[in-house]
Amino acid sequence: MKTLQQRTLTALVAAALCVAGAAQAAAPMVKNPAPGYSRIMLGKFEITPLSDGTVDLPVQDLLAQDVKKTSATLAAAHLKTPVETSDNAYLVNTGTKLVLIDSGAGTFFGPTLGKLVASMKAAGYQPDQVDEIYITHFHGDHIGGLVSNSAAVFPKAVVRANKLESDYWLSQANMEKSKDKDSFKGAQAALGPYVKAGRFKAFEGDIELVPGIRSQLASGHTPGHTTYMVESGGQKLHVIGDLIHVAAVQMENPDITIQFDNDQKAAAAPRKKVFDAAAKGGYMIGGAHLQFPGMGYLRNEGKGYRFIPVNYTQMR
Ligand SMILES: [Zn+2]
Repeated sequence: MKTLQQRTLTALVAAALCVAGAAQAAAPMVKNPAPGYSRIMLGKFEITPLSDGTVDLPVQDLLAQDVKKTSATLAAAHLKTPVETSDNAYLVNTGTKLVLIDSGAGTFFGPTLGKLVASMKAAGYQPDQVDEIYITHFHGDHIGGLVSNSAAVFPKAVVRANKLESDYWLSQANMEKSKDKDSFKGAQAALGPYVKAGRFKAFEGDIELVPGIRSQLASGHTPGHTTYMVESGGQKLHVIGDLIHVAAVQMENPDITIQFDNDQKAAAAPRKKVFDAAAKGGYMIGGAHLQFPGMGYLRNEGKGYRFIPVNYTQMR
């Protein structure tokens, strides 16, 4: 038989446990994705990295090196295949022009990608504000976002790319002799509405497209793969497209190529040339497949490089 005091104590303990239990269950996990944009100033330019989402890549089967070696390198970076891989684009507001570099995958690669427009809206911009779009190359994860249901997603933008790239992918003859017809069809579907409306303008050579943004041919990954150097107030950001896919492996060993490279022999050379210049020049790079926001600095280390992610800064 419990005394009154004992009974009161038991009741209090039970009540306290109840409250604790209720508090633990009260807030359900949200689990929606973090905002798909970041923001940094580059001189007078505002740079908004945009996430198109991520895609799982079976990199062990894709990289041109021994599977066991890849596996060990990934493990050292706390990764395993398939590696959840970012797909990034970069929005540059120069103060007079709004320029988007690459457009994400749209519907071309399944539901984990195609989030660029949502990221752009969350960042405070609308697709109809984009004046120009510079494409690094015509693979689906960079051009698929140009279209939705066969219509242009960016109703006022002029799309620009190196002529070597558009001549290659928009050629019927090249498609007919290729084993990878889907990539050609994708390129034609993505660019089609812009070509039809007279809003696709190829360029030749390395040129300044708007004040502060220059194209730089870096072929190998694709015939007209192009990077874009963004420069304002003495600060530089080199948007490097697909010069690298798997940072955990290719930073340390930049000679390793990936199956996505059209010309695997030629793909490693521009990676090293552009990375060496960035390390020497001490300026930022922005990579489509470096983990979002994909921006940072490079330092030479051994036979390769160390990637130093850019410090987080908030707008003030
Ligand atoms: Zn890519």
